[in-house]
Amino acid sequence: MTERVPYLASRLQGLGTTIFAEMSALAARHGAINLGQGFPDTDGPAEVADAAVAAIRAGHNQYPPGPGIPELRRAVAAHQARFWGLTPDPDTEVLVTAGATEALTAAVLALCETGDEVLTFEPTYDSYLAAASMAGAVLRVVPLRAPTYDFDPSDLEAAVTPRTRLLLLNTPHNPTGKVFSPAELAAVAELCVRHDLVAVTDEVYEHLVFDGRHIPLASLPGMAERTLTVSSAGKTFSFTGWKVGWVCGPAALVSAVRTVKQFLTYVNAAPFQHAVVTGLELDDDFYRQLASGLAAKRDLLCDGLAKAGFIVHRPAGTYFATVDIRPLGADDGADFCRTLPGRCGVVAVPSSAFYTDPAAGRHLVRFAFCKQDDVLVEAVERLATL
Ligand code: PMP
Ligand code: GLN
Repeated sequence: MTERVPYLASRLQGLGTTIFAEMSALAARHGAINLGQGFPDTDGPAEVADAAVAAIRAGHNQYPPGPGIPELRRAVAAHQARFWGLTPDPDTEVLVTAGATEALTAAVLALCETGDEVLTFEPTYDSYLAAASMAGAVLRVVPLRAPTYDFDPSDLEAAVTPRTRLLLLNTPHNPTGKVFSPAELAAVAELCVRHDLVAVTDEVYEHLVFDGRHIPLASLPGMAERTLTVSSAGKTFSFTGWKVGWVCGPAALVSAVRTVKQFLTYVNAAPFQHAVVTGLELDDDFYRQLASGLAAKRDLLCDGLAKAGFIVHRPAGTYFATVDIRPLGADDGADFCRTLPGRCGVVAVPSSAFYTDPAAGRHLVRFAFCKQDDVLVEAVERLATL
């Protein structure tokens, strides 16, 4: 026990989330424009916010049911059917969680034994390494190769061992903004079926796709029965602080996740669960406008970053654009990001935070574009002075 605490703490130190928080503090100290941590600077739909206020006023303030309120489980199931043709049973195949973070961590804790391996692509959202570490499992990564962020299927195959238990797939992908293609998803699905792996997918950016389209891994042949699909309300409704997420999948797997969730948070966000029902029921126009609005912001930021001299990888989805800083005479993203607020009043995050070997992403920096247009315009003007 005494050994485990320092081990975990040392494993988790310096992961992306720590750095996002450090960069947000730096932004506040310098009064800089914060394009680091990914959160919108405007609230989501007024009717969704009103529904949260109404839920508090209506007295939805005590512990909700363990699996989540039935109205939200039904709304999540209806959303999966409406957008992705998936048909989870709201009573047994949907669980509400404290954001996607808890769903992902609880899934890894529920399904991995000590020494099991979790396969994922790198760069990788930082909570995956944290979740694997908490479970005593090993995160094994397959590189997405910059600048196109494709992968070599033979690398994926070579990373599977007899201890591989889970494959964790994030599409659309943070930090690269990659949206996995149908062919890539087919290769991933085929591997999972052949090696009898459970897949856990992180689809929090499912509605933030600008080029191509989002395809849930669970919709591929042979995958529904072995996939836990995770998403959350944070990005879709621009209320990242509400922390309402969900996991859908086969009843036995969802039940295992629920057992763990009971001892992580037990339940969460009673009034916000009601509000998210209102969000999930918004019409298709809302979802279309969300993506088209963000696509314009992506272009605004990416054009500005290119003009400032960076090599820009234009993302197909998410909140984030990655740049290569070397044309500006820099090659250490962490140093670059620490000095950027002082140099020009803008905050970004070093992509090294998303690599198990920080050297791999050393020259890359991630900027968020989920900000008001005038903020982005001002940010690119400042970056142009570099
Ligand atoms: N997965 C990815 C890829 C993310 O970028 C984030 C952060 N927003 C999360 C999960 C966490 O989502 P939530 O806030 O719903 O826990
Ligand atoms: N997911 C958000 C990002 O990548 C931040 C969430 C966090 O700080 N953990 O910026």
